[in-house]
Amino acid sequence: MAVAAALLVTSALLSGPPRWFGITAFIFVVGLAFGAMISNKSAASKVTAHETDAVTTAEFSIDLLNATLNEMREGLLVIDSEMRVVASNHAARHLFSNVDDSINSRRLTELTRNPGIYDAFLDAVRGKERAGVKVETFAPERRVFDLHVAPLHATDGTAGAVGVFFDVTRLERLELIRQEFLSNVSHELRTPLTSIVALAETLEAGALDDPENNRRFLAIIQKNAARMHRLIDDILELSAIEAGNVKLQRESIQLQPLVEDIISSVSTTAAARNIKVSNLVQTSAEVFADPHRLMQMLTNLIDNAIKFNRDSGTVSVTFKSGDYDRISVEDTGEGIPSHHLDRLFERFYRVDRARSRELGGTGLGLAIVKHLAKSHGGEVSVESRFGEGTRFTIELPRLATDAARMDQ
Ligand code: ADP
Repeated sequence: MAVAAALLVTSALLSGPPRWFGITAFIFVVGLAFGAMISNKSAASKVTAHETDAVTTAEFSIDLLNATLNEMREGLLVIDSEMRVVASNHAARHLFSNVDDSINSRRLTELTRNPGIYDAFLDAVRGKERAGVKVETFAPERRVFDLHVAPLHATDGTAGAVGVFFDVTRLERLELIRQEFLSNVSHELRTPLTSIVALAETLEAGALDDPENNRRFLAIIQKNAARMHRLIDDILELSAIEAGNVKLQRESIQLQPLVEDIISSVSTTAAARNIKVSNLVQTSAEVFADPHRLMQMLTNLIDNAIKFNRDSGTVSVTFKSGDYDRISVEDTGEGIPSHHLDRLFERFYRVDRARSRELGGTGLGLAIVKHLAKSHGGEVSVESRFGEGTRFTIELPRLATDAARMDQ
Protein backbone atom coordinates (compact mmCIF):
# COMPACT_ATOMS: atom_id res chain seq x y z
CA MET A 1 0.00 0.00 0.00
CA ALA A 2 2.77 2.41 0.96
CA VAL A 3 4.72 1.77 -2.18
CA ALA A 4 1.61 1.94 -4.36
CA ALA A 5 0.61 5.28 -2.87
CA ALA A 6 4.20 6.46 -3.14
CA LEU A 7 4.37 5.67 -6.81
CA LEU A 8 1.03 7.35 -7.36
CA VAL A 9 2.11 10.59 -5.68
CA THR A 10 5.55 10.49 -7.27
CA SER A 11 4.25 9.94 -10.76
CA ALA A 12 1.63 12.66 -10.27
CA LEU A 13 4.26 15.20 -9.23
CA LEU A 14 6.84 14.17 -11.77
CA SER A 15 4.51 14.81 -14.66
CA GLY A 16 5.20 18.54 -14.19
CA PRO A 17 7.26 20.89 -16.36
CA PRO A 18 11.02 20.34 -16.87
CA ARG A 19 12.12 22.50 -13.90
CA TRP A 20 10.61 19.88 -11.63
CA PHE A 21 13.07 17.24 -12.76
CA GLY A 22 15.70 18.81 -10.53
CA ILE A 23 13.77 17.79 -7.47
CA THR A 24 13.06 14.25 -8.58
CA ALA A 25 14.82 12.67 -5.63
CA PHE A 26 13.02 14.90 -3.20
CA ILE A 27 9.67 14.10 -4.72
CA PHE A 28 10.36 10.39 -4.65
CA VAL A 29 10.96 10.57 -0.91
CA VAL A 30 7.81 12.65 -0.60
CA GLY A 31 5.91 10.07 -2.61
CA LEU A 32 7.18 7.21 -0.46
CA ALA A 33 6.50 9.12 2.69
CA PHE A 34 2.97 9.89 1.60
CA GLY A 35 2.38 6.31 0.76
CA ALA A 36 3.62 5.50 4.21
CA MET A 37 1.38 8.08 5.81
CA ILE A 38 -1.71 6.94 4.01
CA SER A 39 -1.07 3.32 4.91
CA ASN A 40 0.23 4.09 8.37
CA LYS A 41 -3.05 3.40 10.16
CA SER A 42 -3.50 -0.06 8.77
CA ALA A 43 0.10 -0.95 9.55
CA ALA A 44 -0.32 0.23 13.13
CA SER A 45 -3.50 -1.74 13.66
CA LYS A 46 -1.84 -4.90 12.35
CA VAL A 47 0.87 -4.58 15.00
CA THR A 48 -1.76 -4.38 17.76
CA ALA A 49 -3.76 -7.31 16.35
CA HIS A 50 -0.75 -9.59 16.38
CA GLU A 51 0.35 -8.26 19.79
CA THR A 52 3.99 -8.40 18.88
CA ASP A 53 6.81 -6.12 20.01
CA ALA A 54 8.98 -6.92 17.06
CA VAL A 55 9.72 -3.92 14.86
CA THR A 56 9.80 -5.12 11.29
CA THR A 57 11.81 -3.45 8.58
CA ALA A 58 8.61 -2.30 6.88
CA GLU A 59 7.34 -0.61 10.05
CA PHE A 60 10.69 0.99 10.65
CA SER A 61 10.64 2.36 7.11
CA ILE A 62 7.16 3.76 7.61
CA ASP A 63 8.25 5.51 10.81
CA LEU A 64 11.36 6.79 9.12
CA LEU A 65 9.44 8.09 6.13
CA ASN A 66 6.83 9.68 8.36
CA ALA A 67 9.57 11.45 10.27
CA THR A 68 11.22 12.55 7.01
CA LEU A 69 7.98 13.90 5.69
CA ASN A 70 7.24 15.80 8.87
CA GLU A 71 10.75 17.26 9.06
CA MET A 72 10.47 18.76 5.59
CA ARG A 73 10.11 22.51 5.20
CA GLU A 74 7.76 22.13 2.25
CA GLY A 75 4.08 21.75 3.04
CA LEU A 76 2.33 18.70 1.54
CA LEU A 77 -1.39 18.26 1.24
CA VAL A 78 -3.37 15.42 -0.33
CA ILE A 79 -7.11 15.94 -0.88
CA ASP A 80 -9.82 13.66 -2.19
CA SER A 81 -12.32 14.42 -4.93
CA GLU A 82 -14.60 16.15 -2.42
CA MET A 83 -11.82 18.57 -1.53
CA ARG A 84 -11.27 16.99 1.88
CA VAL A 85 -7.75 16.59 3.28
CA VAL A 86 -6.73 12.93 3.43
CA ALA A 87 -3.05 13.40 4.30
CA SER A 88 -0.73 16.24 5.27
CA ASN A 89 2.62 16.88 6.92
CA HIS A 90 3.54 19.25 9.78
CA ALA A 91 4.62 22.05 7.49
CA ALA A 92 1.22 21.98 5.75
CA ARG A 93 -0.52 22.32 9.11
CA HIS A 94 1.39 25.55 9.78
CA LEU A 95 0.08 27.01 6.54
CA PHE A 96 -3.36 27.47 8.02
CA SER A 97 -3.31 29.84 10.97
CA ASN A 98 -6.97 29.32 11.88
CA VAL A 99 -6.49 25.60 12.62
CA ASP A 100 -5.08 24.44 15.95
CA ASP A 101 -5.47 20.66 15.72
CA SER A 102 -5.32 18.16 12.89
CA ILE A 103 -6.29 19.31 9.43
CA ASN A 104 -7.01 15.79 8.14
CA SER A 105 -10.64 15.12 7.11
CA ARG A 106 -11.33 18.84 6.94
CA ARG A 107 -12.64 20.49 3.81
CA LEU A 108 -10.18 22.81 2.11
CA THR A 109 -12.71 25.65 2.41
CA GLU A 110 -12.65 25.24 6.20
CA LEU A 111 -8.90 25.64 6.25
CA THR A 112 -8.44 28.60 3.95
CA ARG A 113 -10.37 31.27 2.15
CA ASN A 114 -7.43 31.86 -0.16
CA PRO A 115 -8.86 31.61 -3.70
CA GLY A 116 -5.42 30.87 -5.19
CA ILE A 117 -5.01 27.68 -3.13
CA TYR A 118 -8.60 26.56 -3.63
CA ASP A 119 -8.62 27.10 -7.41
CA ALA A 120 -5.32 25.26 -7.88
CA PHE A 121 -6.57 22.17 -5.98
CA LEU A 122 -9.95 22.29 -7.74
CA ASP A 123 -8.26 22.36 -11.15
CA ALA A 124 -6.08 19.40 -10.16
CA VAL A 125 -9.08 17.37 -8.91
CA ARG A 126 -10.61 18.01 -12.33
CA GLY A 127 -7.48 16.63 -13.95
CA LYS A 128 -5.53 19.82 -14.71
CA GLU A 129 -2.06 20.15 -13.23
CA ARG A 130 -1.12 23.58 -11.82
CA ALA A 131 2.52 24.63 -11.39
CA GLY A 132 4.13 27.83 -10.15
CA VAL A 133 1.00 29.18 -8.47
CA LYS A 134 2.05 32.12 -6.30
CA VAL A 135 0.19 32.01 -3.01
CA GLU A 136 0.44 34.53 -0.18
CA THR A 137 -0.60 34.00 3.44
CA PHE A 138 -0.71 36.82 5.95
CA ALA A 139 -1.07 35.33 9.42
CA PRO A 140 0.88 35.58 11.61
CA GLU A 141 3.19 37.23 9.07
CA ARG A 142 3.32 37.53 5.28
CA ARG A 143 4.67 34.41 3.58
CA VAL A 144 4.88 33.60 -0.10
CA PHE A 145 4.64 30.08 -1.54
CA ASP A 146 5.22 28.54 -4.91
CA LEU A 147 2.44 25.94 -5.10
CA HIS A 148 2.45 22.92 -7.39
CA VAL A 149 -0.69 20.78 -7.50
CA ALA A 150 -1.04 17.57 -9.51
CA PRO A 151 -4.05 15.30 -10.07
CA LEU A 152 -4.10 11.86 -8.40
CA HIS A 153 -5.90 8.91 -9.96
CA ALA A 154 -5.90 5.65 -7.98
CA THR A 155 -6.41 2.34 -9.77
CA ASP A 156 -9.74 1.85 -7.95
CA GLY A 157 -11.06 4.93 -9.74
CA THR A 158 -10.91 7.38 -6.82
CA ALA A 159 -9.46 10.78 -7.64
CA GLY A 160 -7.88 13.60 -5.73
CA ALA A 161 -4.94 15.96 -5.82
CA VAL A 162 -1.57 16.41 -4.18
CA GLY A 163 -0.07 19.83 -3.54
CA VAL A 164 3.43 20.89 -2.51
CA PHE A 165 3.93 24.36 -0.98
CA PHE A 166 7.48 25.70 -1.45
CA ASP A 167 8.20 28.61 0.88
CA VAL A 168 9.81 31.30 -1.29
CA THR A 169 9.43 34.20 1.18
CA ARG A 170 13.18 34.51 1.76
CA LEU A 171 14.01 34.11 -1.92
CA GLU A 172 11.53 36.83 -2.80
CA ARG A 173 12.98 39.17 -0.19
CA LEU A 174 16.53 38.55 -1.44
CA GLU A 175 15.40 39.18 -4.99
CA LEU A 176 13.88 42.48 -3.89
CA ILE A 177 17.09 43.49 -2.11
CA ARG A 178 19.09 42.56 -5.22
CA GLN A 179 16.84 44.62 -7.47
CA GLU A 180 16.95 47.59 -5.09
CA PHE A 181 20.74 47.32 -4.91
CA LEU A 182 21.09 47.21 -8.70
CA SER A 183 18.79 50.16 -9.15
CA ASN A 184 20.72 52.12 -6.50
CA VAL A 185 24.07 51.29 -8.10
CA SER A 186 22.83 52.31 -11.56
CA HIS A 187 21.45 55.54 -10.18
CA GLU A 188 24.64 56.34 -8.27
CA LEU A 189 26.80 55.70 -11.34
CA ARG A 190 24.52 57.51 -13.76
CA THR A 191 24.79 60.88 -12.00
CA PRO A 192 28.57 61.36 -12.32
CA LEU A 193 28.59 59.69 -15.72
CA THR A 194 25.96 62.09 -17.09
CA SER A 195 28.02 65.00 -15.86
CA ILE A 196 31.21 63.62 -17.46
CA VAL A 197 29.50 63.05 -20.83
CA ALA A 198 27.85 66.49 -20.82
CA LEU A 199 31.10 68.31 -19.99
CA ALA A 200 33.12 66.33 -22.56
CA GLU A 201 30.54 67.32 -25.19
CA THR A 202 30.69 70.95 -24.11
CA LEU A 203 34.49 70.92 -24.38
CA GLU A 204 34.29 69.29 -27.79
CA ALA A 205 31.73 71.84 -28.97
CA GLY A 206 34.19 74.68 -28.41
CA ALA A 207 34.74 75.15 -24.68
CA LEU A 208 38.20 73.59 -25.10
CA ASP A 209 39.38 76.92 -26.47
CA ASP A 210 37.67 78.89 -23.72
CA PRO A 211 40.55 79.60 -21.33
CA GLU A 212 38.15 80.70 -18.58
CA ASN A 213 36.24 77.44 -18.40
CA ASN A 214 38.23 74.58 -19.94
CA ARG A 215 40.30 73.86 -16.83
CA ARG A 216 37.26 74.13 -14.58
CA PHE A 217 35.34 71.65 -16.74
CA LEU A 218 38.27 69.25 -16.71
CA ALA A 219 38.48 69.49 -12.93
CA ILE A 220 34.77 68.58 -12.65
CA ILE A 221 35.24 65.63 -15.01
CA GLN A 222 38.14 64.46 -12.87
CA LYS A 223 36.13 64.82 -9.66
CA ASN A 224 33.23 62.80 -11.07
CA ALA A 225 35.52 60.09 -12.44
CA ALA A 226 37.15 59.82 -9.01
CA ARG A 227 33.70 59.52 -7.44
CA MET A 228 32.81 56.64 -9.78
CA HIS A 229 36.08 54.99 -8.91
CA ARG A 230 35.40 55.26 -5.17
CA LEU A 231 31.90 53.93 -5.66
CA ILE A 232 33.06 50.89 -7.60
CA ASP A 233 35.79 50.21 -5.04
CA ASP A 234 33.27 50.40 -2.18
CA ILE A 235 30.77 48.16 -4.00
CA LEU A 236 33.46 45.53 -4.65
CA GLU A 237 34.68 45.79 -1.09
CA LEU A 238 31.21 45.41 0.36
CA SER A 239 30.36 42.44 -1.89
CA ALA A 240 33.60 40.71 -0.90
CA ILE A 241 32.90 41.22 2.82
CA GLU A 242 29.26 40.15 2.47
CA ALA A 243 30.20 37.06 0.46
CA GLY A 244 32.61 36.06 3.23
CA ASN A 245 35.60 36.38 0.89
CA VAL A 246 37.48 38.59 3.32
CA LYS A 247 39.62 36.54 5.67
CA LEU A 248 40.41 38.30 8.90
CA GLN A 249 43.94 38.12 10.27
CA ARG A 250 43.19 38.87 13.89
CA GLU A 251 45.94 39.78 16.30
CA SER A 252 46.54 41.76 19.42
CA ILE A 253 46.79 45.46 18.49
CA GLN A 254 47.98 48.52 20.37
CA LEU A 255 45.01 50.79 19.74
CA GLN A 256 46.53 54.15 20.60
CA PRO A 257 49.20 54.27 17.85
CA LEU A 258 46.73 52.91 15.30
CA VAL A 259 44.31 55.77 16.05
CA GLU A 260 47.23 58.21 15.93
CA ASP A 261 48.08 57.02 12.38
CA ILE A 262 44.49 57.56 11.23
CA ILE A 263 44.40 61.03 12.76
CA SER A 264 47.62 61.96 10.90
CA SER A 265 46.11 60.80 7.63
CA VAL A 266 43.04 63.03 8.02
CA SER A 267 44.82 65.99 9.61
CA THR A 268 44.84 68.15 6.45
CA THR A 269 41.08 67.78 5.93
CA ALA A 270 40.40 68.46 9.60
CA ALA A 271 42.74 71.45 9.71
CA ALA A 272 41.06 73.00 6.65
CA ARG A 273 37.93 73.43 8.79
CA ASN A 274 39.72 73.95 12.06
CA ILE A 275 38.39 70.70 13.50
CA LYS A 276 40.31 69.24 16.42
CA VAL A 277 40.62 65.44 16.41
CA SER A 278 41.68 64.01 19.81
CA ASN A 279 43.06 60.59 20.52
CA LEU A 280 41.85 59.84 24.07
CA VAL A 281 42.71 56.14 23.93
CA GLN A 282 44.84 54.95 26.87
CA THR A 283 48.38 53.97 25.91
CA SER A 284 47.82 50.52 27.43
CA ALA A 285 44.70 49.79 25.35
CA GLU A 286 44.86 46.59 23.33
CA VAL A 287 42.21 45.04 21.12
CA PHE A 288 41.97 41.77 19.24
CA ALA A 289 41.19 42.49 15.58
CA ASP A 290 42.45 42.50 12.01
CA PRO A 291 44.61 45.69 11.98
CA HIS A 292 43.86 46.57 8.37
CA ARG A 293 40.10 46.11 8.84
CA LEU A 294 40.04 47.94 12.17
CA MET A 295 41.84 50.84 10.51
CA GLN A 296 39.29 50.79 7.70
CA MET A 297 36.35 50.91 10.15
CA LEU A 298 37.82 53.70 12.26
CA THR A 299 38.91 55.71 9.21
CA ASN A 300 35.33 55.63 7.89
CA LEU A 301 33.92 56.78 11.21
CA ILE A 302 36.53 59.49 11.82
CA ASP A 303 36.18 60.68 8.22
CA ASN A 304 32.42 61.03 8.68
CA ALA A 305 32.86 62.74 12.04
CA ILE A 306 34.94 65.41 10.28
CA LYS A 307 32.73 65.65 7.18
CA PHE A 308 29.49 66.09 9.10
CA ASN A 309 31.00 68.33 11.80
CA ARG A 310 30.64 72.08 12.13
CA ASP A 311 33.63 74.33 11.50
CA SER A 312 35.92 74.47 14.57
CA GLY A 313 34.17 71.42 16.03
CA THR A 314 35.84 68.47 17.77
CA VAL A 315 36.14 64.73 17.24
CA SER A 316 37.27 62.40 20.03
CA VAL A 317 38.21 58.75 19.93
CA THR A 318 37.85 56.84 23.21
CA PHE A 319 38.25 53.25 24.41
CA LYS A 320 36.52 51.30 27.17
CA SER A 321 36.86 47.67 28.08
CA GLY A 322 34.05 45.68 29.74
CA ASP A 323 32.21 42.57 28.57
CA TYR A 324 33.28 43.79 25.12
CA ASP A 325 35.98 46.20 23.98
CA ARG A 326 34.31 49.44 22.90
CA ILE A 327 35.89 52.05 20.65
CA SER A 328 33.86 55.24 20.23
CA VAL A 329 34.15 58.11 17.76
CA GLU A 330 32.25 61.15 18.97
CA ASP A 331 31.73 64.46 17.18
CA THR A 332 30.18 67.84 17.84
CA GLY A 333 28.55 67.96 14.43
CA GLU A 334 25.07 68.42 13.10
CA GLY A 335 23.71 65.18 14.59
CA ILE A 336 21.17 62.83 13.01
CA PRO A 337 17.39 63.07 13.47
CA SER A 338 16.25 60.00 15.45
CA HIS A 339 13.94 58.63 12.73
CA HIS A 340 16.98 58.01 10.48
CA LEU A 341 18.98 56.01 13.03
CA ASP A 342 17.36 52.61 12.37
CA ARG A 343 18.29 52.63 8.69
CA LEU A 344 21.64 54.40 8.88
CA PHE A 345 23.74 51.26 8.30
CA GLU A 346 21.83 50.22 5.16
CA ARG A 347 23.63 50.42 1.85
CA PHE A 348 23.23 53.83 0.17
CA TYR A 349 21.15 55.22 3.02
CA ARG A 350 21.90 58.90 3.64
CA VAL A 351 20.26 61.54 5.77
CA ASP A 352 20.84 64.14 3.07
CA ARG A 353 21.64 62.56 -0.28
CA ALA A 354 22.70 65.76 -2.04
CA ARG A 355 24.96 66.80 0.82
CA SER A 356 26.63 63.39 0.97
CA ARG A 357 27.36 63.53 -2.77
CA GLU A 358 28.70 67.04 -2.52
CA LEU A 359 31.09 65.83 0.19
CA GLY A 360 32.23 62.99 -2.06
CA GLY A 361 30.44 60.21 -0.15
CA THR A 362 29.31 56.91 -1.64
CA GLY A 363 26.70 56.04 0.99
CA LEU A 364 28.42 52.70 1.59
CA GLY A 365 30.90 53.60 4.36
CA LEU A 366 28.67 52.69 7.30
CA ALA A 367 27.44 49.49 5.62
CA ILE A 368 31.09 48.43 5.28
CA VAL A 369 31.75 49.27 8.96
CA LYS A 370 28.70 47.23 10.01
CA HIS A 371 29.74 44.16 8.02
CA LEU A 372 33.35 44.34 9.20
CA ALA A 373 32.27 44.69 12.84
CA LYS A 374 29.99 41.67 12.40
CA SER A 375 32.70 39.57 10.83
CA HIS A 376 34.80 40.29 13.94
CA GLY A 377 31.94 38.90 16.04
CA GLY A 378 31.03 42.40 17.20
CA GLU A 379 28.77 45.19 16.08
CA VAL A 380 28.51 48.93 15.56
CA SER A 381 25.92 51.23 17.08
CA VAL A 382 25.04 54.92 16.93
CA GLU A 383 23.66 57.50 19.34
CA SER A 384 22.93 61.01 18.21
CA ARG A 385 21.34 64.25 19.31
CA PHE A 386 20.18 66.35 16.45
CA GLY A 387 22.07 69.64 16.39
CA GLU A 388 24.53 68.50 19.10
CA GLY A 389 26.58 65.61 17.83
CA THR A 390 26.90 61.90 17.18
CA ARG A 391 28.71 58.96 18.73
CA PHE A 392 29.46 55.73 16.85
CA THR A 393 30.69 52.77 18.91
CA ILE A 394 32.38 49.64 17.60
CA GLU A 395 32.08 46.65 19.94
CA LEU A 396 34.63 43.88 19.60
CA PRO A 397 34.96 40.58 21.50
CA ARG A 398 37.66 41.01 24.14
CA LEU A 399 41.26 40.14 23.60
CA ALA A 400 41.25 37.77 26.58
CA THR A 401 38.33 35.62 25.44
CA ASP A 402 39.45 32.15 24.56
CA ALA A 403 36.66 31.88 22.01
CA ALA A 404 38.06 34.77 20.05
CA ARG A 405 41.55 33.25 20.07
CA MET A 406 40.33 29.83 18.99
CA ASP A 407 38.32 31.43 16.25
CA GLN A 408 41.53 32.46 14.50
P1 ADP B 1 28.60 58.69 3.07
O1 ADP B 1 29.45 58.26 1.95
O2 ADP B 1 27.40 59.48 2.64
O3 ADP B 1 29.34 59.32 4.19
P2 ADP B 1 28.09 56.61 5.00
O4 ADP B 1 27.53 55.24 4.82
O5 ADP B 1 29.45 56.73 5.58
O6 ADP B 1 27.98 57.30 3.60
O7 ADP B 1 27.08 57.43 5.90
C1 ADP B 1 25.71 57.41 5.60
C2 ADP B 1 25.04 58.69 6.07
O8 ADP B 1 25.01 58.73 7.49
C3 ADP B 1 25.73 59.96 5.65
O9 ADP B 1 25.36 60.36 4.34
C4 ADP B 1 25.23 60.94 6.70
O10 ADP B 1 23.94 61.39 6.32
C5 ADP B 1 25.07 60.08 7.94
N1 ADP B 1 26.24 60.19 8.85
C6 ADP B 1 27.27 59.34 8.95
N2 ADP B 1 28.12 59.73 9.93
C7 ADP B 1 27.62 60.86 10.44
C8 ADP B 1 28.04 61.76 11.48
N3 ADP B 1 29.16 61.57 12.19
N4 ADP B 1 27.25 62.84 11.73
C9 ADP B 1 26.10 63.06 11.04
N5 ADP B 1 25.66 62.25 10.06
C10 ADP B 1 26.39 61.17 9.76
